[in-house]
Amino acid sequence: FTGKTGSQLLTEKIKQLKVKDHQSLPVVVKESSSVYDAICSMFLEDVGTLFVVDSHGKLVGILSRKDLLRASIGKQELESIPVSIIMTRAPNLTVCEKDDYIIEAASKLIEFQIDALPVVKSKDSAGFEVVGRLTKTNITKLLVEIANDEHE
Ligand code: ADP
Repeated sequence: FTGKTGSQLLTEKIKQLKVKDHQSLPVVVKESSSVYDAICSMFLEDVGTLFVVDSHGKLVGILSRKDLLRASIGKQELESIPVSIIMTRAPNLTVCEKDDYIIEAASKLIEFQIDALPVVKSKDSAGFEVVGRLTKTNITKLLVEIANDEHE
């Protein structure tokens, strides 16, 4: 008997959760894609955040729903505007890695007031390769799993 209360055990369990066990697949678009194509990808892939990559697959930006809505206000030619003009650009991107703790990633979502983090792996040269996506939905699902004690 360790003398630990139920709530201490729960706290310990939560602090051990890792990004890699709760992440989703990333959805990426090329930096040369148009805003129009990005909107189509967002609907077809049913995600709220798109990651933008260059021709080498390196992460160069992020597009949220509101980024695309903002670009759609007015009578602009959405087919001729590349996403690189409206995306949030590197190095101003908040990222996580698969071995990070969920609680660190969740803290970043709160601190930066964003819905998703790309899960990245350092590329040989400078820059990141996108290997996953961690969203508020992943964390909400996890909360339900914990409550139902479905989590190891
Ligand atoms: P929305 O803009 O639809 O409310 P978010 O809250 O996720 O969605 O995004 C807010 C702003 O932050 C957007 O301009 C978006 O490009 C940017 N953003 C989203 N995720 C990240 C991230 N991981 N790192 C840096 N900026 C981000």
